[in-house]
Amino acid sequence: MTDRQKRQIEAMRRKGCSYAEISDELELSPNTVKSYCQRSRGGSEGDVCRNCGEPIMQNHGAKQKNFCSNHCRQDWWNHNRNQINHRDRRTAICDCCGQAFEVHGKRKQRFCSQECYADWRRGG
Ligand SMILES: [Zn+2]
Ligand SMILES: [Zn+2]
Repeated sequence: MTDRQKRQIEAMRRKGCSYAEISDELELSPNTVKSYCQRSRGGSEGDVCRNCGEPIMQNHGAKQKNFCSNHCRQDWWNHNRNQINHRDRRTAICDCCGQAFEVHGKRKQRFCSQECYADWRRGG
């Protein structure tokens, strides 16, 4: 493995790429990528920040952390929100006009638009 490949692996890990994605991209075997990642950070999988790639101090017995700080968690969610919304997309029926519309995420949404909400509030 060249130094260039090592740097690329580290960069891609920081972006949250999986071993498979990295091995595809760099034309290395997944095992090579995996063992390099584990050796280079000297820990088990999952104990680096998903956002910045810094090692995370895990508390034993506590829930495993994915981010080194709240700041990184926020950052990561900001960048990944679009993908996540995509997966959680579903259809709801507007309480006002009865039309189907798309809802993102888990929040409850009863109206297809601000206009329908306003209409409904007015008792229409
Ligand atoms: Zn971080
Ligand atoms: Zn509506």
